[in-house]
Amino acid sequence: MSESWVYAFEEGNGKDKRLLGGKGANLCEMTQMGLNVPPGFVITTEACLSYLDTDDHSLPEGMMDEVQSQMRALEEKTGKRFGDAESPLLVSVRSGSAMSMPGMMDTILNLGLNKDTLAGLIRQTNNERFGYDAYRRFIQLFGKVALGVPDELFDEQFEFVKQQVGAKVDVALQAEDMRDVSERFLKVVNDHTGKPFPDDPYDQLEIAIKAVFNSWMGKRAVDYRREFHITPELANGTAVNVVTMVFGNLGNDSATGVAFTRNPGTGENHLYGEYLVNAQGEDVVAGIRTPKPVHEMGEEMPDLYRQLLELRDKLERHYREVQDFEFTIEKGNLYCLQTRNGKMNASAMVRTSVEMQREGLLNKEEALLRVDPEHLEQMLYPRLDPDYRADALARGLAASPGAASGQAIFDADRAEALGKQGLKVILVREETKPEDIHGFFASQGILTSRGGKTSHAAVVARGMGKPCVAGAEGIEVDTQLRKAFAGDAVVKEGDVITIDGTTGNIYLGEVPMVEADFSEELKILLSWADESARLHVMANAATPDDARRAIKYGAMGIGLCRTERMFNASDRLPIVLEMIVADTPEQRQAALDKLLPIQPGDFKGIFKVMSPRPVTIRLLDPPIHEFLPSEHQLEDEIAHLRQLRGAVHGMEVLADTIALLGAEAPGPASRLPQTIHELGDTRLVDNVLTRKEAILRKAKALREINPMLGHRGVRLGLTYPEIYSMQIRAILEAAAECVREGIDVHPEIMVPQVCTAQELRRVREYVENAHRAVESSYGVTLNYQFGTMMEVVRACMRADNMAAAAEFFSFGTNDLTQATFSFSREDAENKFLPMYNERGVLQDNPFEVLDVKGVGRLMKLAVEWGRSAKPDLKVGICGEHGGHPASIRFCHDVGLNYVSCSAPRVPIARLAAAHANILAGQGREGVATDKAA
Ligand code: ADP
Ligand code: MG
Ligand code: MG
Repeated sequence: MSESWVYAFEEGNGKDKRLLGGKGANLCEMTQMGLNVPPGFVITTEACLSYLDTDDHSLPEGMMDEVQSQMRALEEKTGKRFGDAESPLLVSVRSGSAMSMPGMMDTILNLGLNKDTLAGLIRQTNNERFGYDAYRRFIQLFGKVALGVPDELFDEQFEFVKQQVGAKVDVALQAEDMRDVSERFLKVVNDHTGKPFPDDPYDQLEIAIKAVFNSWMGKRAVDYRREFHITPELANGTAVNVVTMVFGNLGNDSATGVAFTRNPGTGENHLYGEYLVNAQGEDVVAGIRTPKPVHEMGEEMPDLYRQLLELRDKLERHYREVQDFEFTIEKGNLYCLQTRNGKMNASAMVRTSVEMQREGLLNKEEALLRVDPEHLEQMLYPRLDPDYRADALARGLAASPGAASGQAIFDADRAEALGKQGLKVILVREETKPEDIHGFFASQGILTSRGGKTSHAAVVARGMGKPCVAGAEGIEVDTQLRKAFAGDAVVKEGDVITIDGTTGNIYLGEVPMVEADFSEELKILLSWADESARLHVMANAATPDDARRAIKYGAMGIGLCRTERMFNASDRLPIVLEMIVADTPEQRQAALDKLLPIQPGDFKGIFKVMSPRPVTIRLLDPPIHEFLPSEHQLEDEIAHLRQLRGAVHGMEVLADTIALLGAEAPGPASRLPQTIHELGDTRLVDNVLTRKEAILRKAKALREINPMLGHRGVRLGLTYPEIYSMQIRAILEAAAECVREGIDVHPEIMVPQVCTAQELRRVREYVENAHRAVESSYGVTLNYQFGTMMEVVRACMRADNMAAAAEFFSFGTNDLTQATFSFSREDAENKFLPMYNERGVLQDNPFEVLDVKGVGRLMKLAVEWGRSAKPDLKVGICGEHGGHPASIRFCHDVGLNYVSCSAPRVPIARLAAAHANILAGQGREGVATDKAA
């Protein structure tokens, strides 16, 4: 508890926003640093809470006494008297909590006016119109805020008077009209409340203070706090600021305005704002008159403009942060009425961070800490022009951020063909499958009408950094007709559409975009981040192009190179099919022998781009049947082929018949039978049919009840050793070729789905064999590392054993989360997780925010046990959590060496890694694994 309920601006602690609110604390601070702030005082948030806590809403004892003595002090400072008919003191009563809640609570201006004081105000200013204008504003604001009189009742009367005198705009009203208005307003209050408008200034003050306190629990404010997650820890209760009124509407030597110390849109270092001559503060915001850009003050009021620039410099030098401030000029005197940290977009944040460091306002750590890593997302992906208003055609899930426009194309082959011609296309599917991958490469973005944030389309698009809207159920995609239907609208193939993967919106036509902005300043800031971070940031990348992008974003290596894409590229899939359908190891080997010469090229391309950074390659992970077409599709095709065979047989008969006739009628017809014969060769159809039937048999044989927990990863690697051996060999050969060319490579081979060290040791044997063979046949020395994914609970529990057989661990937190919760991600997210989150059974989606208390605790144990067996064990995390700032802080705290995430998130992760190290160094707590759930 603080000692008083009330603090003068000269005495309040400007750092204590919780007690004094943001506005109050800064008014104190500004007063104490010698800026020209109208005299005033703050009533604390504790007074507010105490008031709200009583059943009958009574003010805390002694509070009004303190207020009165503060008012007397104001009288002394201003030489005016509250309620005095000669020289009346007027004040504003302003709310302000610890967190800014724009427009949620209310401010009353000109408090202290009644018939007597009004007369004094008019005499003093010698301006009758000004006096009545102030009075009517006060009656309306006080009536609305403190007495609950609806605004409309006042507005009606105001309009009536305007009409009566034929005035189109407020300024056309004369003094007597304003008097008429204020009298009507007094009557409105009397009629509505059944009581006359309170005339006693201290009554007015007390009612106003209570009204501001009450506004804390008003519906608007409560909803706002819920919406923006403003918890009582962040802001509890509102303070009340009582401030001597200053008037910007006392003539042409008066003005009012708001300004930013730097441009909040670009970060440029110049005063940015607006002002109005002869106006009150609210006029600027209310948009009744159009304000002028603040630099015009340089000509209109040069001396005051100079003072304003001085004020700007003082504010920035003091707060060492861009400020958003309010000012009023009364008869040539400049007052500052409010300041707070300016809200800016990401580019402006980054630019001001770098420039303020250079100007000596901030050190590098401060410059880093003021930028929220998540906020960078804005700069890393193209986005729709925020000023452009367009109606969305439909909405799906925001599955991969960024925006893109292009022609809607309904199959991957066509998308690829058009993409290669340089056209911009959006691949539109009901859902996508691994065999659509070539279409992804060629498209600007992907739209699906089914599937969640973890559907194939979403995961692959995120990996590639392409925008994706998934599960847009309002759209019906008909790939046969090559059309999509959304309500009454039809999108034909070739129609241009725009998708916004950041919001999930889909638009017809091309919506203007703001390009991603990987600015020089961002590069500088991130280079500081790398100096400050302990964690290394790697990227997930599967192709040389991906790798190039990863480097552009500053990745320090590849933490996860998935090899499945090398299997379903269109030139590989037939060979892979051959390998799967093989009945004997020999047949399988024959297929693999065809793959082996192709695969080193893939790896070599990546190694070259990444040299000398490490590249971690994961051996084949998914269940093998994922490379096969679905049983359903195969059955369809086989049925068609059978029909076709009938037709072809018919053609053979036809050809024979024509041949017979042709003998009698020479000419072109004589060549016809031969052509038909060639086309109608049943053997051709038979061949295809047999192959398809074999694939179907295989698909049925490979069918699993629960493929994700079935025959995949290292299990596949041990049962079909040829596959892993071929991959390992390809990796090492690629590395050997690089070494021969003098390229510095650091391959790391990683085994997925491991649950026992035995598995690991066996694969290690393949690696060692291949390594010996490659070294001797290439005549080079090859360094590599061998490690394991940690994505199975048992592997974590046996981490010490695993460590003995591995140089590194990489937590696959997607699968590890599934395994720890025993949730299948897709089912969880589609069925019960939303409800769990809503009802607070679980706080977050553990697939988006690493579950530190459960999964994290397991990771922590595994790191400890692993390092107990091998102290220099390298440990990292791959998977989407690796790009999430809170998870990164956790990874830092448990001593991981690196995180790996999709390339476009690398900058976010680099900044987050720096934050983690700086904050941990400052002793600021992260989320601990043993905090109560
Ligand atoms: P908000 O938080 O909605 O901005 P404020 O309390 O800052 O509310 O006040 C609303 C408007 O009234 C602002 O333009 C402010 O500058 C102006 N204002 C507040 N107090 C005074 C005062 N004592 N003298 C002159 N103008 C004031
Ligand atoms: Mg304000
Ligand atoms: Mg996995």
